[in-house]
Amino acid sequence: MDRLKREGLGMTSQRTRNRLIQRLREEGISNEAVLDVMASTPRHLFLDEALAIRAYEDTSLPIGYGQTISQPYIVARMTELLLSRAKSLHRVLEVGTGSGYQAAILARLVDRLYSVERIGPLLEKARQRFRELGLYNVETSISSGGFGWPEKGPYDAILAAAAPASVPSDLKEQLGPDGVLVIPVGNERQFLTIITRRGDSQQFDVERLEPVHFVPLLGGVVR
Ligand code: SAH
Repeated sequence: MDRLKREGLGMTSQRTRNRLIQRLREEGISNEAVLDVMASTPRHLFLDEALAIRAYEDTSLPIGYGQTISQPYIVARMTELLLSRAKSLHRVLEVGTGSGYQAAILARLVDRLYSVERIGPLLEKARQRFRELGLYNVETSISSGGFGWPEKGPYDAILAAAAPASVPSDLKEQLGPDGVLVIPVGNERQFLTIITRRGDSQQFDVERLEPVHFVPLLGGVVR
């Protein structure tokens, strides 16, 4: 890819990106690995050109098909939670590839990332971005219509970027021993939730954290 496009200018320059990182620190993000990866991942490449100048504002933005790229703070927060809770990070699943931004962050922090998306055209664009950025440890798939990607599991950790009304048992079942699921849960009021499998048992611990706003987790596939 064009070096200038990747490095950005003005509103997409490294200086603008560093201001966002400073803001994330002020908001309580403290994992240096997460902050480093976010500082060096060009979020503007995950947006349409008209919105690229807003890429380093701490806000979610439209990516088409009624979906949004997640707010940088929530990407950082969920990634930090996943890193601090998971016992290993060999195989990690993301549900809801969207623009591919959250996946690009995770891919640089885990061994192998699997990511599923139910909207075909969004997934196509995200795949192209992974290629352009040389992220070769990401494997993607169009959703099967169910939840997650059981064929590639079990996973050490799962991050869901869309909110179900209640935690789908399919996702819990795809967790390996001590596996951790970070997921927004709820209809009108959603809460960031952490589900942890107890060893290799069928028991799960549930922790409800702060309120959040995500697009809904939906069944079915859009081609
Ligand atoms: N991680 C994305 C966030 C995109 S918004 C990013 O950083 O840009 C959430 C995405 O989840 C949307 O693209 C939506 O289409 C997708 N989604 C919703 N339900 C899904 C399901 N059951 N399986 C896979 N993807 C789903």
